[in-house]
Amino acid sequence: MAEVLIRIDQIVKRFDDNVVLNGLSLDIHEGEVVVVVGPSGCGKSTLLRCINGLEPVQEGSITFRGEKVDGKAKTITALRQKVGMVFQSYELFPHKTILDNITLAPMKVQKRSKADARKEAEELLDRVGLLDKKDSFPRQLSGGQKQRVAIVRALCMHPDVLLFDEVTAALDPEMVREVLDVILDLAKQWKTMVIVTHEMSFARAVADRIIFIDQGKIVEEGKPADFFDHPQTERAQAFLQTFTFDKVEKEPE
Ligand code: ADP
Ligand code: MG
Repeated sequence: MAEVLIRIDQIVKRFDDNVVLNGLSLDIHEGEVVVVVGPSGCGKSTLLRCINGLEPVQEGSITFRGEKVDGKAKTITALRQKVGMVFQSYELFPHKTILDNITLAPMKVQKRSKADARKEAEELLDRVGLLDKKDSFPRQLSGGQKQRVAIVRALCMHPDVLLFDEVTAALDPEMVREVLDVILDLAKQWKTMVIVTHEMSFARAVADRIIFIDQGKIVEEGKPADFFDHPQTERAQAFLQTFTFDKVEKEPE
């Protein structure tokens, strides 16, 4: 198997006395696509935030290529460049053009030349079908287009791993598809990704491994076909039930 890129070892994450992650361990390998599912509030977003050092953990450790994610300013700056994150709310700067939104961090943080950053941004925009929007402002784009820009912005930093937190949750169905297609394309290119999503058929298609979290722990994990067709635990079965509907049986008039 490929090398371990991120090792999450027995982490405990608390907010005051609310224990959100309770001794969770997970290895993410180079080139692997891990999809994290679980009920609302089970700690999926918190897990992603711990991985990129936005949240400190109280116990256990997270290592990235063997180096501890410890929250110190210097290591965090280096880590943020290696860990790309895409959120539900695109977080684009409203007063900057699409191209400027994408090239800002590569130029500022990675000290790349404007010409170099622009060239790559344009290539990536072309790949997601948005080159003609490069001089537009975020408000002139649809939600799906903005989210594709947010993905390009993350890619332009050449991260070793991409974290996606419910990136299609606020989008209309046809826009969901255009964003998920971009992520499927990245999976084909062996990008390492950790994806939190409620799009179960997408999860099944993109994942190498599904992780089901409930009450702060991994309750079940496995290959998508096993998880979706033969969930082992009652909790996973109950969770998956929430995505299916029984045909309405009309009561007698
Ligand atoms: P999910 O993404 O699975 O819906 P979250 O990770 O957002 O769940 O939240 C898990 C739990 O942690 C929830 O009980 C939530 O209220 C709590 N939580 C998340 N972030 C914070 C925070 N910054 N301060 C206090 N509690 C938080
Ligand atoms: Mg969340």
